[in-house]
Amino acid sequence: MSLLPLFAMAGVGVLTQPAVKLSLEFLSETQSAKVTLDLPKGESAPQFRMAAWAPGDYQIWNFGNQVRNAEFFRNGKITPSKRSPNDPNLWQVPGGYDRVVTTVRASNGNFTPWLALGKDYAFVSPAGVLGWVPGFENRKMLLTVKPPQEWKRATLHCAPPTKDGTVQAGDYFELIDSPFVIGENLTVETRSVGKGKEVVTVGFGKPELKLGPIADLLADLAKENEKLFGENPVDRFVLLCDFDGFASGLEHRASSRVGLWSTSPQQVQGLISHEYFHIFNIKRIRPKGIGPLDLTQPAKTPSLWFAEGVTDYYAEVILTRLGRQTKQEFLKGMATMLQRFQQRRSRSQATAIESSLRVWEVKGSQGYGISYYEVGWLIGATLDLAIRRESKQKFSLDDVMRALYKSHKRPDGFTEVELRQICTTYGGPQLGEIYDDCVNSTGSPPLGQELRSAGYTWNGRDLVAPEETRHKYPYDLRSP
Ligand SMILES: [Zn+2]
Repeated sequence: MSLLPLFAMAGVGVLTQPAVKLSLEFLSETQSAKVTLDLPKGESAPQFRMAAWAPGDYQIWNFGNQVRNAEFFRNGKITPSKRSPNDPNLWQVPGGYDRVVTTVRASNGNFTPWLALGKDYAFVSPAGVLGWVPGFENRKMLLTVKPPQEWKRATLHCAPPTKDGTVQAGDYFELIDSPFVIGENLTVETRSVGKGKEVVTVGFGKPELKLGPIADLLADLAKENEKLFGENPVDRFVLLCDFDGFASGLEHRASSRVGLWSTSPQQVQGLISHEYFHIFNIKRIRPKGIGPLDLTQPAKTPSLWFAEGVTDYYAEVILTRLGRQTKQEFLKGMATMLQRFQQRRSRSQATAIESSLRVWEVKGSQGYGISYYEVGWLIGATLDLAIRRESKQKFSLDDVMRALYKSHKRPDGFTEVELRQICTTYGGPQLGEIYDDCVNSTGSPPLGQELRSAGYTWNGRDLVAPEETRHKYPYDLRSP
């Protein structure tokens, strides 16, 4: 979710241009925030925008509707502006402005609050709160966060570096992908996960949290994911654990906000593992259509089944590799997923690709017709098993993930055709057919068939694994 083409074209010179400065203060009585945005000295612009949607939550929110008030200034004096009659997220300022002050209401998305004001903390997911100035997106952003006066010992936690209460982001896209919490009584646990690398767990919304075990889980996840991909792309990963908000998570490029209901890793590890895996799958391995990021209209992609469902599959695979759940527990989860999907499939005729492309037509960010989380999970397992079988246990879905990760720095993202091709590279031509069957069919992915080929049986209640040492292609959930 990182770059606009503009950035690439503008070149290095952009980096030396003066920064856009923002400041944010919280208005607890009205459950809102006041945001002041200042353009660099001597510069002005004729438009101001709020995002229509936020990365990771594929639904139109029109954050302009959360703006209670917007006042534009030029050289210290108020200047006339007009809200666009056709676009709730756009303001026109014919004479140009160099400062805009907005008041933005607290609101929630499908997976995170955009702005939440607690008794002793405030949480912000900036996509729903901070607008941008067209033409200035690629400037450095300096956001000063001002806690309420009564919070004498408030601390600020965010993935990009902070200095004196100021978040320093490389551009607008990094800024909105950097949620933060500020408050008193926050719990912070840091773990080193390699040379120059650390993971930070920050808890808020509940006093006296014991987050050591979750911090250890996060460190384990960082190390296991690094084993899979060969590197850890994030020097400092921050997990913002919200014990006062709803149970769900949203991924960001170097952080994640998760709504937790327990401090016990066993209870919450599936969610945390899923969000952590996203720093690879979606934040770096990105399907075409999601980026370059355009926040003014729906970002349509056929591959959300891969971004979300395969992430969900790997969340469980990684936990099993870590020994944080048993293979039997993993298989139980798989059986539940299969059964649930088969029950729901009877009510829908959508394919995995349609579910992804048309998610914008329905609310909830889960998919059109069927859940791309569920179908993508099953497709991930099917492809993994099929590649293991067809390659005679030489390759697995891990190799597909690594190949995608290797080319993630290109700006446009992968296509379904390329993904299919990578699967055949490791699984041979047969994988093409299996892939098509998975993504273009309204039926279940042929997971049952793959499991039978691998020696698994269904006893009416559980999936029963073959004795692995005796089977030719053991599905041991490890890289071959
Ligand atoms: Zn996700």
